Amino acid sequence: MSELDTALRRGPKKVLDLAGLQDLFSVLSARGHQLAGPTVREGAIVYDRLASVQDLPVGWSDEQDGGTYRLRRRDDDALFGFAVGPHSWKKFLLPPVTTLWRAERSDNGFKVIDTSEKAAPYAFIGVRACELHAIAIQDRVFLNGSYTDTAYLRRREDVFIVAANCGQAGGTCFCASMGTGPRATSGFDLALTEVLAGERHYFLLEVGSERGAEVLAEVEHREATAEEEQEAESVVARTAAQMARTMDTIDIRDLLYRNREHHRWDDVAGRCLTCGNCTMVCPTCFCATVEDVTDLTGEKAQRVRKRDSCFTMDFSYIHGGSIRASPKSRYRQWMTHKLATWIDQFGTSGCVGCGRCITWCPVAIDITEEVHLIRASEGAAAATPGSADERGEEI
Ligand code: SF4
Ligand code: SF4
Repeated sequence: MSELDTALRRGPKKVLDLAGLQDLFSVLSARGHQLAGPTVREGAIVYDRLASVQDLPVGWSDEQDGGTYRLRRRDDDALFGFAVGPHSWKKFLLPPVTTLWRAERSDNGFKVIDTSEKAAPYAFIGVRACELHAIAIQDRVFLNGSYTDTAYLRRREDVFIVAANCGQAGGTCFCASMGTGPRATSGFDLALTEVLAGERHYFLLEVGSERGAEVLAEVEHREATAEEEQEAESVVARTAAQMARTMDTIDIRDLLYRNREHHRWDDVAGRCLTCGNCTMVCPTCFCATVEDVTDLTGEKAQRVRKRDSCFTMDFSYIHGGSIRASPKSRYRQWMTHKLATWIDQFGTSGCVGCGRCITWCPVAIDITEEVHLIRASEGAAAATPGSADERGEEI
């Protein structure tokens, strides 16, 4: 953390009321940002363009479990009283289809049409701690490697992030055990904690960047009292304590490498539909395929990048066939990439514990359960007299 960041964080926390939050929306719009955030649509809380605070899911919450998602009404008017839904911020930063370039036939060949025009930068409203970690992972892949992805850069630069510390854990969340939440610790311009205490409804604000401080200076706010800071602390602590799922990440990379032939992969393959839902909802999955398309006249062509999934046969097609022909090999590839080979590639886990892949898996396959069972079987094997471990065999 830079000295500037430290100085900003040490400053007293601020408080906004509902009108102040709307003021923040107006200031961000006036500064040229397109506002995007959670809103209710077709029975789910999704991310879309926002015009005002009233577009947020006022008074809505969600119930989530393996393969289950439903909205339910809260008995208050909380704006952020829910967990993450099926969308993630990759909807904006890494859309399902991206045009990389266009070309038109010309008299002596073809000319490439410039598609690099930049839209107004987004202001993301209500980004959860796990999602900040997911964005940081995408940044590492697309911006901080040996190659900068210009399509991603155009969408990512100048994004203003208003984080929301979680006031309620979803049924499938496990960010606390991944060290990625429920409190936002970095990667935001402003972070809010929504507090509903009796008649009082306010947002405790933390400044995370110089730009955040500049924006906040334009918004009507006041300094927080010690009691308000304490109330906001207890909101986040309560959320962490609510989390029913955990993932034990100790030695997880080697655990999975040791268990490439574990019988559990056959069990999960018997249930997995290879639908790819888990990869579509995952905020860190970034695989794509590239297609060149022409119109019927042959006058215009374009290259598009489309989201892809390692659960399809085509994904690993190499001349003559797919190298991951079985569901077992595809699920094992996905989970082992997330939790093990990702660490070798990028230095972090590819999972931030958001729980989406559990909620949106139609057959409720649970990545935390799979890891737990593989780990438990090793423990049981080690504890059983005459086990492979005792016999000095590799397990
Ligand atoms: S693997 Fe599952 S829990 Fe982990 S980040 Fe992806 S969707 Fe979320
Ligand atoms: S694990 Fe679930 S969501 Fe993922 S491909 Fe298999 S059935 Fe679909």
